[in-house]
Amino acid sequence: MSEENLNYTDQIQKRRTFAIISHPDAGKTTLTEKFLLYGGAIRSAGSVKSRRTQKHAVSDWMEIEKQRGISVTSSVLQFNYDGFCINILDTPGHQDFSEDTYRTLVAADSAVMVIDSAKGVEEQTKKLFKVCKMRGIPIFTFINKLDAQGKDPLELIEDIENALGIRAYPMDWPIGCGKAFKGVYNRRKNHIELFEDGDHGQSMVGTLECDINDPNLTNIIGSDLHEKLLEDIELLDMAGDDYNLEQILKGELTPVFFGSAMTNFGVEPFLQTFLEISTPPQPRMSNEGPIDPTTEYFSGFIFKIQANMNPAHRDRIAFLRICSGKFEKGMMTTLVQKNKKVKLAQPQQFLAQDRAMVEEAYPGDIIGIHDPGIFNIGDTLCSADLKLKYEGIPQFAPEHFMKISTVNALKRKQFLKGVSQLAEEGSIQVFKPHFTGSEELIVGVVGVLQFEVLEYRLNNEYGVEIKKQRLPYNYIRWIEMENYSPSNFKLTSDAIVAETEDGDPVLLCQYEWSIRQVSERNEGAILRETHLKE
Ligand code: GDP
Repeated sequence: MSEENLNYTDQIQKRRTFAIISHPDAGKTTLTEKFLLYGGAIRSAGSVKSRRTQKHAVSDWMEIEKQRGISVTSSVLQFNYDGFCINILDTPGHQDFSEDTYRTLVAADSAVMVIDSAKGVEEQTKKLFKVCKMRGIPIFTFINKLDAQGKDPLELIEDIENALGIRAYPMDWPIGCGKAFKGVYNRRKNHIELFEDGDHGQSMVGTLECDINDPNLTNIIGSDLHEKLLEDIELLDMAGDDYNLEQILKGELTPVFFGSAMTNFGVEPFLQTFLEISTPPQPRMSNEGPIDPTTEYFSGFIFKIQANMNPAHRDRIAFLRICSGKFEKGMMTTLVQKNKKVKLAQPQQFLAQDRAMVEEAYPGDIIGIHDPGIFNIGDTLCSADLKLKYEGIPQFAPEHFMKISTVNALKRKQFLKGVSQLAEEGSIQVFKPHFTGSEELIVGVVGVLQFEVLEYRLNNEYGVEIKKQRLPYNYIRWIEMENYSPSNFKLTSDAIVAETEDGDPVLLCQYEWSIRQVSERNEGAILRETHLKE
């Protein structure tokens, strides 16, 4: 193998690309920040947050983002640690939760799930987890805030198993919590890592190590905690799952770590074990079979399109996940879906704090490429003359619906163009109702903020003012049924049927139980929660 080839395989081997998921406030930002701190990408904690607030002044992002001080889209960060090159895909929470958040998970090879020890598994974590589970990617759990009073660790493990339907293997076990938090027992290494609340997480902490049977331990953690620790560990060893790497990599078993991101405790051991267990980019499925990352030609797919990063140019940035081959700035590729040659001229990479021009990148990396309006979510780019297409990115179930039409009938054309453009970017989904005239459309979104984005952009970019009315539906299912016809399809009183832009039938309903009812009333109907667009 030539020097260059060796180097290329090494580049792939050292890459790890993971999404970080949690319910808002569990500590995702704090943990990310600590990863960057250990990676030397930032000098002191607090910079990620403070940059968020600074952003008002320097950002050229959408106006709406500035007004609200929140980030509308998910971001990508790259940093190096201990010879590894790590890509973190952030998944936004709060009101800016959107379909993009789900799509980001498709670009990741594994997920880090942060759970607040006082709250256990929360709503948004469940939703994000479902997508990770669907993809069968490994999920690493970090139970956070051990320095504060939380639930009993056994209860937390049970909660993960019951609420998420995944087996859990505690890699370490906490000794006390809140004010009495003393540290963790590392089960694989059979030692104790003691907690010292150094300088409140501003810098890295070291760990004091000693054996679980060390008689001195009673002096350090007290006899009650020592006794409880020995009991808990005995129980886990007897009744808990065994450590099983194969199951972890298939996403059937989640390794669980306890720590405190704020005080840095447990962050570095977590990162180290994560890097040790997780795998570099693996082959990705395509219409030509699995494509190995070491394949010579460059290929990747677009999982997100971000509009108006620079309002002066009204252009878009497409986020591309590299799946095989080496990427080089200015390279010529084929956009397979449109059979069109595309030169990737001004690629950007998202380093810890800044966006920078990228000269070369490898499988696992995410790059941003200029989109003159030709890309769609799920498109494949490939440097070889192949009809290679990566598995499409599904549409995820919107949870909020609105009926919209244009105030000024003469603007109907712009209205339809704007709506269709926004649907193409993937920030909204559009449905045609059967119950009204052709003037109205139903739009569905995963996060309500998208409604504001829609209204704002239609107004600002297309000069269209809209009439809107929220609809009471909370659930959508794509209907698959032979001989489907809207008039014969039996519904519950809270439900309607509509059509996607491509003419696929969907069910919209208010209550979750209606889904089962409708499914029972229509023999042979399959109601799907996600949909693969052709
Ligand atoms: P995110 O919404 O998941 O990104 O959460 P943040 O990282 O912004 O954290 C939410 C709040 O929890 C902030 O006030 C943090 O300071 C706090 N927090 C994060 N990690 C810890 C921790 O380990 N212990 C305690 N006590 N608080 C934490």
